[in-house]
Amino acid sequence: MKPIPLHFTWDYNDVDRAFWAEHLEGWLPRRIIDAHIHVSSARYRTEPVTEQMRRQYWVNEVSAPMDGPTADHCIRTVFPERKVTCVAFGHASLAFDIEAANEYTRTECLKRGWHSLAVLRPEWSAERVARELAKPGVLGLKPYYSLISRDPGTRDRHLDADIFDFLPHHVLEVANERGAWVTLHVPKADRLGHPANIRQIRQLRERYPDVVLVIAHLGRSYTEPHAREGIPPLADDPGLYWDVSATFNPASFRVAMRHIGPERLLWGTDNPVFFMRGRREWRGRTYFNRTSGDFHFNRNEHEPPDVEAKYTLYTYEALKTLKDVCAELGVGREGVQAIFHDNAEGLMQSVLDAKRARGEQ
Ligand SMILES: [Zn+2]
Repeated sequence: MKPIPLHFTWDYNDVDRAFWAEHLEGWLPRRIIDAHIHVSSARYRTEPVTEQMRRQYWVNEVSAPMDGPTADHCIRTVFPERKVTCVAFGHASLAFDIEAANEYTRTECLKRGWHSLAVLRPEWSAERVARELAKPGVLGLKPYYSLISRDPGTRDRHLDADIFDFLPHHVLEVANERGAWVTLHVPKADRLGHPANIRQIRQLRERYPDVVLVIAHLGRSYTEPHAREGIPPLADDPGLYWDVSATFNPASFRVAMRHIGPERLLWGTDNPVFFMRGRREWRGRTYFNRTSGDFHFNRNEHEPPDVEAKYTLYTYEALKTLKDVCAELGVGREGVQAIFHDNAEGLMQSVLDAKRARGEQ
């Protein structure tokens, strides 16, 4: 069959169809929640992506904003006969008009029965945060360290910030009072295992226990050493949740499954980036993305054309890896159902119940 265009340069072809039929069709639950997806529009970009930015970081080259209708189309194509709903947010970048982009994401989600998180500007007042959280369809906040202040030269200017620098206490007080959802992408080059992250997440949980805190990307545990350093120290907290998005290292999944367990993991894709085709290789504390597209990051690292022709979507590779780890560790239907739907659904309902009790939607 003819390939179906997905988003950006990605498409959906016969390799993907066969992969779905062989590995995923019989395994994925009927109802799915993608708890980490970016829905935005290039319309709200206030500054163009420069050549320098493109070369700096692979995500910059492949994360063209995906609008609501495109996200909907991609999900229907990639997950046939599944009912997929989303917890979506825009691009956490000051190269966007954050307020307008948040409003776009929110209304696109509302149209489809999805929910959104508002990208948080740390300088917002408590009142401004409360107003954002009261809007229909908004579950919570998406803070990010690069929103501390603008630096067009690098996205990492604030990488070593502390969590409370970009998720300040006055914001957490409002979020706690309202039982709002916060998806936290942890800072620091050392990722989750950095002692300041461990300490501050514990503090956050202690001081703001009613915040629905979700650690994004398993704390950026893209490699096994990062998973081993960061996950166990926080895994015992029964009120802490973790999304597996963008992580498809089998060793990281094993650490997460053993220490956290399926009852506190949420599935997410981090799409549109993971519509990329190919596979990832891990090299100690780093990784390398193999893909058939032609980008700065893979220019000199192509595999033979017949190998690249067999690449499927990263989204599918991630799902297959999760499936294999579930089988290996004896995670059955109930656990799979929890990861893909029930856990996120439960958290979402707790936020929505609190909103309804306040007379909001
Ligand atoms: Zn993301």
